[in-house]
Amino acid sequence: MLNWILFDGREVLWALLGVFLCAQVGTLATTVYLHRGLAHRSVELHPMARWLMRLTIWLTTGIAPREWAAVHRKHHRFADTEGDPHSPYVHGFWQIQLLNLHYYRREAADAAMVKRYSRDIGYDAWDRLFDKTTLGPILFVLTWIAVFGPLLGTAAGFGSFGLYIFLNASINGAAHWIGYQNFSNTARNLWLLALLTAGEGLHNNHHEYPGSSRFSQKWWEIDLGWWTISLLRALKLARVAPSAGLA
Ligand SMILES: [Zn+2]
Ligand SMILES: [Zn+2]
Repeated sequence: MLNWILFDGREVLWALLGVFLCAQVGTLATTVYLHRGLAHRSVELHPMARWLMRLTIWLTTGIAPREWAAVHRKHHRFADTEGDPHSPYVHGFWQIQLLNLHYYRREAADAAMVKRYSRDIGYDAWDRLFDKTTLGPILFVLTWIAVFGPLLGTAAGFGSFGLYIFLNASINGAAHWIGYQNFSNTARNLWLLALLTAGEGLHNNHHEYPGSSRFSQKWWEIDLGWWTISLLRALKLARVAPSAGLA
């Protein structure tokens, strides 16, 4: 009985590894598909790659792609001034670092704003199925439960959501607050955060060249998102937009 409550140590380690990997896969799909692909149109994915990444987003994050792209475009439009949906300079550093999800949801609930900033983004039956329900996250947690049982599985599923939310909050909070700058805009680069977010932590570079599908500027800046795009290009599964103009 005690063993059942405390779990097997090795099982917990496997669950922790799974949590980390799921949050990483969700973050990779966020940067390649949601951010560089959908919001900035700097990379065009083959329908098969796009579909896989959409499914990854729905399952591991529960995000509605059109809403995410709209909120993010508005962030660039007003970066760190009044109107920015999640600026540490407007709302406070800890508010964004800890409550980014609240600010995101508040903005995404504004249907007129979403429409205004996502006119070019299509909406199909799959979007209707996943965007307006919690089907994706429910399927995700049920998969965890099937592998690890109800207690550890539920904890791990929500742990993955939590880690993903923390990493994304760190882009909007920490990467607009602390870190080094290659360019004079309000965003910052954080090397370690970039390592953990498939390149998203190179946020100062990104705000300087939002149309570029590559976020790294120095040889020592690690951009796993760009490496993934490069691999997809080699496999003829992605095209970099001509206007991206790699800096
Ligand atoms: Zn930003
Ligand atoms: Zn952006």
